[in-house]
Amino acid sequence: MKIKLSLFLILLSFATITTSCVSVQVKENTISAIPAEVKKPKNIILLIGDGMGLSQVSTAIYYKDGKPNFERFHTIGLSKTSSASDLITDSAAGATVFSTGAKTYNGAIAVDMDTIPRPTIVEQLSKRGLATGIIATSSLQHATPASFYAHVKSRSMYEDITAFAPNSGVNFFAGGGLKFFNKRKDGKDLLMEMKAKGYEVITDQLPKIPSESNEIILLAQDGMPKMTEGRGDFLPNATKLALEKLSKNEKGFFLMVEGSQIDWGGHNNDSEYLIQELLDFDKTLGVALDFAKQNGETLIIVTADHETGGYTLASDGKDYNKIKPSFSTNGHSGTMVPVFTEGPGASLFNGIFESNEIYSKMMMLFDK
Ligand SMILES: [Zn+2]
Repeated sequence: MKIKLSLFLILLSFATITTSCVSVQVKENTISAIPAEVKKPKNIILLIGDGMGLSQVSTAIYYKDGKPNFERFHTIGLSKTSSASDLITDSAAGATVFSTGAKTYNGAIAVDMDTIPRPTIVEQLSKRGLATGIIATSSLQHATPASFYAHVKSRSMYEDITAFAPNSGVNFFAGGGLKFFNKRKDGKDLLMEMKAKGYEVITDQLPKIPSESNEIILLAQDGMPKMTEGRGDFLPNATKLALEKLSKNEKGFFLMVEGSQIDWGGHNNDSEYLIQELLDFDKTLGVALDFAKQNGETLIIVTADHETGGYTLASDGKDYNKIKPSFSTNGHSGTMVPVFTEGPGASLFNGIFESNEIYSKMMMLFDK
């Protein structure tokens, strides 16, 4: 009994130490400067699979006809995703690390722990004359895309988030979220404001060629339809369109593409939903990789903000030749998520690092 009790106490103290260690965020970067031998890219495409852990990625191996585009990457790292407020991050804090480098509280959209706005990568590069684009299969006001162009203290402030779009300087937007522009509680029509700021506003279908001016493509009132409900090739085609447009900029570009609904499949504990969203994301990686291969000056980074669902591809315990996908939560999990990179600068993303280092590495690579 005594032994059991002391063992229990040891375990308890170990658990306490472990918890307190994890909640202290490592702020220092593993690198402070780019090694001279590393070639810097002109452009970066950041593709975020929301809620995409390793099991989600693995579905591309088991459920895709043909070789997954994930297998075309040669540099793989792991990202530690905890937010500053919680061991398990939400998508707002999870995206704010990529857009601003700040580990912040769950729910924060590009603001720090004190709700002070932090400049986003999009704002900074836009000021330097680079082209920028944001694409999502959620509404453009949802946590991940919002964190790249808006600053609000709470992710649910969709109408306030929308108000940042006209002055965002973003050259290409595509996703859902039309109703937050033109069916607002304050009665304002922000589509008119977008037009006044020089945006072409497109709400019917994805154009075949990019606009000469800045453009915003809004193809759903809120989130885009699920793949299983006929979204089709919106994500790969919007990515192709954005690349055609942004690559015309002599100074370079930054494009953020989110496979938003991999996360929603996880929250719904709906494996078929998740798999179809993941395969759509994999197809989009193909578009980015093909562009980068031809372009030669583009770094592609593929990662997730966190894992969703505690998803596993387990056997049923009897038949080891049969995969029975299952979930252990309808929320997020705290496992590390993979970081796939390809192109100039990819070698910086080897190893294990805090999620906000992805931001600082991108910014260092953009520093000329
Ligand atoms: Zn998320």
